[in-house]
Amino acid sequence: MKQITLLGATGSIGQSTLDIVALHPDLYRVYALTANSSRKKMEALCRRFTPRFAVMSDAASAAELQQALADLPTEVLAGEEGLAQVAAAAEVDVVVAAIVGSVGLMPTLAAVRAGKRILLANKESLVMAGALFMDEVRRHEAELLPVDSEHNAIFQCLPPGAIGQGVADKGVRKVILTGSGGPFLDVDLADFDELSPEQACAHPNWDMGPKISVDSATMMNKGLELIEACWLFSIDHQDVEILLHRQSIIHSMVSYDDGSVIAQLGNPDMRTPIANALAWPERINSGVEPLDLSQVGRLDFTLADDRRYPCLALARQAWRQGGDSMAVLNAANEVAVALFLQRKIRFTEISRLINEVMERTASGPANDLNAILEADSRARDLAVELSRTRI
Ligand code: NAD
Ligand code: MG
Repeated sequence: MKQITLLGATGSIGQSTLDIVALHPDLYRVYALTANSSRKKMEALCRRFTPRFAVMSDAASAAELQQALADLPTEVLAGEEGLAQVAAAAEVDVVVAAIVGSVGLMPTLAAVRAGKRILLANKESLVMAGALFMDEVRRHEAELLPVDSEHNAIFQCLPPGAIGQGVADKGVRKVILTGSGGPFLDVDLADFDELSPEQACAHPNWDMGPKISVDSATMMNKGLELIEACWLFSIDHQDVEILLHRQSIIHSMVSYDDGSVIAQLGNPDMRTPIANALAWPERINSGVEPLDLSQVGRLDFTLADDRRYPCLALARQAWRQGGDSMAVLNAANEVAVALFLQRKIRFTEISRLINEVMERTASGPANDLNAILEADSRARDLAVELSRTRI
């Protein structure tokens, strides 16, 4: 019986994880659930899974939850300390890192430092602090397994040991990261200024939280995933090709020196990569419909157009600059996406704002956590300031 801490239980990945856990009560038990402020959702989840701990980042929501759960044995904790405690607790075997954004970094690092099996959905933590994060994984012998569907696909297509050790001498020619192109793949570029948050969040293939949905529409998501792949598999950005594949059936591929290309396929449903990482090296039922290729009919592939997706070039540039540039890219993107969701900036201003923040920020080293957190907060302040004056 494996004990699970689920960071970000009320989100889309949280929901998919709990669906799998509910299918296997003999294999998994929920030790802790965490959320930001959605108290009602948390109460319902606690009643269903009776975790040992429930953590609300927001203190007022924690106090309300505690009252609401007075009849349950579940203990309610609050804030960052509560998150770190349940991520590192001795009883825990698996930590699912499914908080959205850079706030996921500290609790995920707490799990790394406690040497847990970590199911990583929170790609932002790896983007902002990749070098340090991977060093800590090696030092504490944590078991890092990617949940992001592309990286889980690549993981499945590579020989064992690729995470943290890299793919040198494994005969890998390149990694092919597939992306659907998001909801605006066929929209006329002239109409991009008028695109709304609702349109951006209506992804054709995946049902996801609002932030990653907007990231998919700008394809910054693929840019973040490029950086995520470079850190996870110790490769350079030039060894990662981005390929548009609108059906989202092939989740990514690895091309080898002998001409072989190995791909992982499946219906676009996050329960597959989550179940893969939860049970690895075993295989369990995820509840996902089996793939019927005769129904899919065809698989299409094209290269991404730079003018449609300027965020891709920004992400490659941040990787090339190195140091704290990726923390700056990530922070500026988080601010820009939040402003777009609040209708304070236009869709086309997202990439312009990130570009401007990157241009005005000299890139420095990212040797320690403080340097990274400072770069993150500087970039946020600058993004907010620029959004008020000019973009
Ligand atoms: P979501 O918005 O649906 O859920 C986010 C979760 O994080 C919620 O439980 C929320 O309570 C919690 N959270 C938000 N702000 C917080 C804060 N300040 N402090 C503590 N907790 C906070 O997001 P999602 O779509 O489930 O994505 C989660 C992560 O997984 C993201 O990093 C995303 O990039 C990654 N991911 C998601 C998908 C997907 O299909 N949804 C696929 C691949 C990767
Ligand atoms: Mg992905």
